[in-house]
Amino acid sequence: MRKKIVAGNWKMNLDYASGVSLFSEIVNMVRDEKNGDQIAIICSPYIHLNSLAKLGGEVVKIGAQNCHQNDNGAFTGEISAGMVKSVGCEYVIIGHSERRQYFAESNELLAQKTVKALENDLTPLFCIGETLDERNNGSYFEVLKTQLEQGVFGLSAADFSKVVIAYEPVWAIGTGLTATSAQAQEVHAYIRKEIAAKYSNEIAEATSILYGGSCNPKNAAELFAQQDIDGGLIGGASLKSRDFVDIVKAFNS
Ligand code: PEP
Repeated sequence: MRKKIVAGNWKMNLDYASGVSLFSEIVNMVRDEKNGDQIAIICSPYIHLNSLAKLGGEVVKIGAQNCHQNDNGAFTGEISAGMVKSVGCEYVIIGHSERRQYFAESNELLAQKTVKALENDLTPLFCIGETLDERNNGSYFEVLKTQLEQGVFGLSAADFSKVVIAYEPVWAIGTGLTATSAQAQEVHAYIRKEIAAKYSNEIAEATSILYGGSCNPKNAAELFAQQDIDGGLIGGASLKSRDFVDIVKAFNS
């Protein structure tokens, strides 16, 4: 059985007090309302992580949105995977398209970050996705394959088995444009096929593959009902407790 996961990505939103307050609401609602074995995660800005892990880490897991590829040293402004782990985080997003686009993070760099996350016992939520041009010119399978090959397929089978993949078409992130459930399922099945070819059917069947891109309470149930979609990575809707928790519950509706 694959893990069913809904992970919120708050991005660079919410000051400290607002983040703690929103997280408390989410924890209470998830505790009262969740009726399945799905895992709820909030990936907050670094400043919240320590407090959130203490507030509700049993009910809602905590993740960072990035980590550095080195253990420590003269990297002013950066945070290592070990530091993230030390405050009680269990997850870290790696390779979000905004990191790729605005911070020029290459597949090679992301491969190093993934190794560091795993060395520090963090579960990487490794993001891949094509741009609108790449979708329109039909090169998207090739693009996704390269992101997998250069980003995570250098891992041993044992290490790859600890990774969660998030398919996030760049054209659907924060745009209100959602991939149709058929478009998303097509890509998720392709990703699983590539994992099977690289590792094994068993590993492919056990890998959770999340969809991200304007997922909301209205479309989540249909997306999550697809055979190869094991949950979601949620941006905008994770900033509203009711919307986020309704998405967490969408597996059961
Ligand atoms: C994201 O940033 O990972 C994301 C999916 O954003 P949104 O849900 O707002 O499209």
